[in-house]
Amino acid sequence: MSFLTLDRIAKNFGASNVVSEFDLSIDRGEFVSFLGPSGCGKTTVLRMIAGFEKPSSGTITVSGEDVTALSASRRRIGMVFQSYALFPNMTASENVAFGLKVAGMDRQTIDARVKEMLSLISLDHLADRYPYQLSGGQQQRVSLARALAPSPKLLLLDEPLSALDAKIRVSLRDDIRRIQRELGITTIFVTHDQEEALSISDRVVVMHRGRADQIAAPAEIYNRPATRFVADFVGTLNVFDAEVVAPGQLRFAAKTFEIPAAGRYEAGDKIVAALRPESLALRRREGDALSIAGTVMMTSFLGSVIRAQIDIDGRVVCVDMFNQSGARIPAIGETAELWFSEDDLLVL
Ligand code: ADP
Ligand code: MG
Repeated sequence: MSFLTLDRIAKNFGASNVVSEFDLSIDRGEFVSFLGPSGCGKTTVLRMIAGFEKPSSGTITVSGEDVTALSASRRRIGMVFQSYALFPNMTASENVAFGLKVAGMDRQTIDARVKEMLSLISLDHLADRYPYQLSGGQQQRVSLARALAPSPKLLLLDEPLSALDAKIRVSLRDDIRRIQRELGITTIFVTHDQEEALSISDRVVVMHRGRADQIAAPAEIYNRPATRFVADFVGTLNVFDAEVVAPGQLRFAAKTFEIPAAGRYEAGDKIVAALRPESLALRRREGDALSIAGTVMMTSFLGSVIRAQIDIDGRVVCVDMFNQSGARIPAIGETAELWFSEDDLLVL
């Protein structure tokens, strides 16, 4: 049975409809991310789950119990915000102890639990520091410990890494996932960063204008995007306007291709054919049967990857190749044949 269920959730602020027809089912222990651009409704959905905001319609169920009308304090949910939101006049351990005191636990139990939580986030040695004496990453660790201390049923993280430097962001991201697995706590993680969502989650909900465009495992989202929006938002994508010549036959990049996946369309339909930069290669690989020709405009050395920009019929197409021995950086102005497999072509 699903642990958390959102059934046809909608939210209006006055006349503006911010969330609509939002359905989601999360299993116990699952790690789910909400991914989408700023303003698409991620925080609003999270606040409805937490009980800070009441849905305009729809129901929220936790372990089979309808909690839609339940106040936030009775939902046993832990929250972490982008801004840390620690109590400035309390030390790290007092911050972590706060929820336990409110719950009326005895002193000994609180002390033991605070110790355990600070050790979980590797901050034992900074227990007596005040927030202003801690770095951003350390403050966010404390707020994670504070959220987890009362053993919530559900952990909600609203862009917890967005204010941090790149290196800290990655290490805290890995720690969040490790701790989540250790505790087995059901978690929702909000982010506008696709790499973050793909790397950390069991499943990703890609949100667009208050709706879930796709809910799937990271690889599925990347390899089989359900909509043009998902395909564009997640990763880099080369997009071609394509015309259906006949069912299963597509014309794009000044060439006609047999594409069985396009069999569901009618002659004359205008659709989109798209290829990821790594699906294209400057040499024919095993499985590559199709190609398009162009002219090399630019190459960029990105470390593990070399990216070439190729002009194809007036459109710039990105091709990524691994920086491995034998990789040849093409010369500007060179004519290039870009190979791909029909399996890698996204038809949207
Ligand atoms: P996200 O977290 O994805 O950036 P939000 O959920 O914060 O998006 O906001 C979604 C939309 O709802 C935005 O257009 C925002 O301006 C609007 N909104 C959020 N909260 C309120 C509110 N209390 N009153 C009116 N509009 C709001
Ligand atoms: Mg937000």
